Amino acid sequence: MKLTLHLKTPETPRLILSNSSNMSIKHLARPDAWALDLALKVDGRDFSLEGREYIKQVIRDTSPKLVVKKAAQTAFTISFLVRSFHWITMRHWHHLYLLPLKQGAIPFVQKRLDPMISGSEYLSAQFSSVDNRLHKQTVDAISLLIRGVNIESEMQETPADVIVFDEYDRMATDFLEDAKHRVDGSRIKRLTFLSTPTVPGHGLDADDEWWASDMHKWFVPCPYCGRFQTFLFEENVKIGDDKYDCVLECSYCHHAISDQQRTNLNAEGKWEATNLEGFFRGYHINQFNSPTMLLHEIMESYFAGQRDAKRMKSFYNQSLGEPYTSPGDQISTQLLDKCRDQNHHLGGIPNGPVYIGIDVGHDDLYVKADTLGRNGERLMYGIWRFQDIPGKTAWEMLEEQVLMKLGTWMAVCDAHPDKRGAQALSVKYPRNFWMGFEKDRPEQEDVAKFDKPERGEPSKVIIDRTLAFDSVIHQMSTGGYVLPPEARELGEQMPRRDYNGFYSHMIQMVRVEEEDLRGRIVASWKKNKNADHWHHADMFSYIATMKRPAMIVTSNISKALQKAGSPVAA
Ligand SMILES: [Zn+2]
Repeated sequence: MKLTLHLKTPETPRLILSNSSNMSIKHLARPDAWALDLALKVDGRDFSLEGREYIKQVIRDTSPKLVVKKAAQTAFTISFLVRSFHWITMRHWHHLYLLPLKQGAIPFVQKRLDPMISGSEYLSAQFSSVDNRLHKQTVDAISLLIRGVNIESEMQETPADVIVFDEYDRMATDFLEDAKHRVDGSRIKRLTFLSTPTVPGHGLDADDEWWASDMHKWFVPCPYCGRFQTFLFEENVKIGDDKYDCVLECSYCHHAISDQQRTNLNAEGKWEATNLEGFFRGYHINQFNSPTMLLHEIMESYFAGQRDAKRMKSFYNQSLGEPYTSPGDQISTQLLDKCRDQNHHLGGIPNGPVYIGIDVGHDDLYVKADTLGRNGERLMYGIWRFQDIPGKTAWEMLEEQVLMKLGTWMAVCDAHPDKRGAQALSVKYPRNFWMGFEKDRPEQEDVAKFDKPERGEPSKVIIDRTLAFDSVIHQMSTGGYVLPPEARELGEQMPRRDYNGFYSHMIQMVRVEEEDLRGRIVASWKKNKNADHWHHADMFSYIATMKRPAMIVTSNISKALQKAGSPVAA
């Protein structure tokens, strides 16, 4: 006789009616109605959708993948907490609730989750069994795990039916893919991505996130002409002399619409897909639909942003729910174009020492060389890309085709991922070939700290990467960086773009300012999925310009000098 163990019933979804009274069938499909009947308290107030009717469809949406690109103060985070409690207790779906930082998990639970549970008799009874801050469990053994994605071990052994990524744009990408696989063993597999956007192309604004969704937008009717529209900054706001002087008006009949009218209009609003080719569900909303933000409050950071780039970024990200980069935060093709000089040519006899930056790719070396102009500006001298060929390594080619052909040079080479090649050249050319170590916020004041080289040891330089990339973009914006007229043609072929690899690599990284674990605002340059080797090679070349090159003494000359008893060889 065969004994079959049913540990988990496989049918989808696992709808189990709660036996507590008063739970009608409508509650299964409607987390909002459920929360209202339970008189759930969220952030100290009764849960309510009054003035926030846009929440209703989103909270009831059971799409497998849901992307919400939101402005601040639109009540989405709290709505998804309500939905989590509903799906856990009513649908019996295991939840993994992810935050950017492990260190943020306990405060999040203390401030937002625990008060919701303790403020409701129903939820208190449901979650009475386990008293663990980051691992809640119902009496039916359905779990709610709260985790930070910055620690790899946090994601192990945590299967789930539903994952909510809260503030996705702020999550370090290292373990995100691992996190998504936590639903692999589930038949439910529901992924929800929430974020205030940050910079174009990153996080939820990536081509395969928001831009691949069906892009639902919230439409409300004008109280005067009745025509439906999405309120947009460019379309609907008449900007006045100051924040009190701005008017939100209908984009058709141009009647002014008051703050109270804006709130009331949500009751008549509707979501509409604006991309019919979308692969999954996307929702976007801005603060012009927020019942708690007055127009002059929204416009405050716009006016402050005229003088302060950070406030302008905050206006776009927090108020409009749109990504934004200020001119100093990302290299653009326009900025590179401005650095082109019709009279500058690559190669030839260098006008002085050549400064070389080398980035180590998967199996390529990316090499950029510059000379310095009269005013210290960096003039592009050439770029090379080397790959191993039978009988010769990329490192040997670098030495033969670049280093040995130049007179006086100074090189800084990426010390990761493969140290060996860089190390060998550094030992061979002490004080000229430096191994560069990029660090986020190293303990040093300068952009680069060159170690004192020891005989027979490689020369090392510690680089503050944020300061280094900041300095490069500063050079570009202030005439300190010169490219040849054909700069768009340089680098690997990119047939679908109007530039090639050099430009493409240069424009990928974005400068982002974030709060660190101690609450300080710190800047860093963030990568995306695309290659950025030329940008790194360029930065290493900049670092090379900070050190005067030593005279190169090749081994033959050195031996000759040693024989002659000259002190130069020492
Ligand atoms: Zn109108």
